[in-house]
Amino acid sequence: MARAFDTGVRPQWCPGCGNYGVLAAVRAALADLGFRRENVVAVAGIGCHGRMTEYLDVNAFHAIHGRAVPVAEGVKLANPKLTVLVHTGDGDAYAIGLSHLLHAARRNVGIKVLVHNNMVYALTTGQAGPTTPRGLKTRSTPYGSVEEPFNPLLLLLASGATFVARGFSDDVQHLKELVKRAILHKGFAVIDVIQPCVTFYDARQWFKERAYKLEDESHDPSDFRAALEKSLETERVPLGVIYEVEKPTFEELVLSREHPPPALRNLKVKQPLGKLLSRFE
Ligand code: SF4
Repeated sequence: MARAFDTGVRPQWCPGCGNYGVLAAVRAALADLGFRRENVVAVAGIGCHGRMTEYLDVNAFHAIHGRAVPVAEGVKLANPKLTVLVHTGDGDAYAIGLSHLLHAARRNVGIKVLVHNNMVYALTTGQAGPTTPRGLKTRSTPYGSVEEPFNPLLLLLASGATFVARGFSDDVQHLKELVKRAILHKGFAVIDVIQPCVTFYDARQWFKERAYKLEDESHDPSDFRAALEKSLETERVPLGVIYEVEKPTFEELVLSREHPPPALRNLKVKQPLGKLLSRFE
């Protein structure tokens, strides 16, 4: 029997890549929630993760580098009934696309962002990126990276994200539950998914030794200060929902307004747009 949300295309990722775990978790989450593929849109950026749109059997859009989030925002505004997933990498989301990500969080657009965070630019053969640990030797930092990585969870919390979580690609069952919670959350949701890149930076064992689940401890995800503290942990790696709060979404606020606004209703356009544009030809 064909697996749910499987296009039948054989994945081309390296054996052992963390992307397999993310793909399995997302497929299982969509199946558990009883979604039909025509009601789901996946938008991917540029990176090894970008092939998710080939393997996940839903409506798909492969955007240019760093621009998956604004494309997804447009889809959500055009049809708020759709479930819109964004697959993006640490380079795609936290470097070239960072501004889009933080402003989508601030606006609370109801898109669900999964950041495939393997801490290197894997598609371009393993250069250092914004979450690369200090001292790591990569193709672009042969003597070890001198840069301090930034903390995406802290940045997203500070930007007003209403759902911030962290998952691990090796724990598919746990990640599946996180994806389900993100989808059911009203508003912007982001999951920073730690995943090994077995070819250029395999931190699987390091994370396995330090990861723990927030559900096993008394963490209250509605407590913003507690969430900030969790995002600052470095010796241990918390997995689970770090913060969740409900607020009106961007699309609710925008689409509930009268169009056109009263002030513009009687505005007379002197020249049709085509005639105006022809002046610049
Ligand atoms: Fe996965 Fe790394 Fe291979 Fe890319 S290079 S497919 S991220 S293991």
